[in-house]
Amino acid sequence: MDTFTALVVEKAGDGVALGMQEWSADRLMAGEVTIRVEYSSVNYKDGLAVRADGRVVRSYPLIPGIDLAGVVERSEDGRFSPGDRVLAHGYEIGVAHHGGLAEVARVPAGWVVPLPEGLTTHQAMALGTAGFTAALSVAALEDAGLKPAAGPVIVTGASGGVGSTAVDILAARGYEVAASTGSADAHGYLRGLGASEIVDRAETSAESSRPLERGRWAGAVDAVGGSTLAYLLRTMNYGGSIALSGNAGAVEFSSTVFPFILRAVNVLGIDSVAVPIERRIAIWERLATDLRPPHLDEAIAHEIPLEEAPAALDKIVRGEIQGRTVVRVAG
Ligand code: NDP
Repeated sequence: MDTFTALVVEKAGDGVALGMQEWSADRLMAGEVTIRVEYSSVNYKDGLAVRADGRVVRSYPLIPGIDLAGVVERSEDGRFSPGDRVLAHGYEIGVAHHGGLAEVARVPAGWVVPLPEGLTTHQAMALGTAGFTAALSVAALEDAGLKPAAGPVIVTGASGGVGSTAVDILAARGYEVAASTGSADAHGYLRGLGASEIVDRAETSAESSRPLERGRWAGAVDAVGGSTLAYLLRTMNYGGSIALSGNAGAVEFSSTVFPFILRAVNVLGIDSVAVPIERRIAIWERLATDLRPPHLDEAIAHEIPLEEAPAALDKIVRGEIQGRTVVRVAG
């Protein structure tokens, strides 16, 4: 493929412009593995990457798309051969290194994950960065000692990508799951994924002057941050853990030391970008097996063609997307 179609974001005056372009392979950045992309996906960070005020892109012009799955076309690394099915996400992909919203991607071999047995490239991107982050969050909570018998687990931003997959994974593992959402039309969807309780976002994002309230949660998966994180801190049970991955609500929050020194609450930082490749491969293997969300195909994910990606990228930062959006690049 000497030329290929790519979605490109570039500087335009004080702002940025996003559009489809024909690119040649020699414009791709250095990397040992050239991949014919079948699917990418729409993540919150992708929405930020195509906005002038997004502050995630480090160099223009850039092909956005922080995750991708496809077939190896060429490899200068012994670990991969033409025809292998692979996925890649994180590191600099889609922020400083051309990403997945193009028919061809070239990345360093050290960033490439072999597609786990039992997952298609479509399913890998139905999970994508958000599903990987949900799995990292559940694994971190369980590594910290969480078990279904400990009590209810709350998921915030529940109708979004991280949230939906976290609800589905936790419910399948036997947890009693409460879903916090601001989307009134998502209640049925979340119950279908296994949530046994819906908590209104108005409650979980409310400010309070009380440092502690009645303990309700043994664990939390928080993709929202801000005042929601403050709510979680003051309502966790003794010894409860919060897996914090996101800031869809806000970056800053205000709390006190009391949840930590009186209730031994833990905040577990979740980062999907710089996770070492060995752990990344291990979590992907688990996403294909014991951390697999059972409703991924029929409820969580829907598919759009590459041409519709700009509209979806615009919607995700406005909180208007439910579940996961898979982008068909050349599947
Ligand atoms: P989505 O947009 O799919 O989900 C975010 C959800 O948060 C929305 O669906 C909505 O859920 C809720 N939400 C949106 N706006 C607000 C608001 N103003 N206040 C409170 N809740 C809000 O995004 P993703 O799932 O892809 O990502 C979620 C967050 O996690 C983002 O901040 C993203 O940057 C971060 N993230 C971090 C990663 C890491 O490595 N740490 C990796 C992946 C994502 P509802 O309507 O149900 O309330």
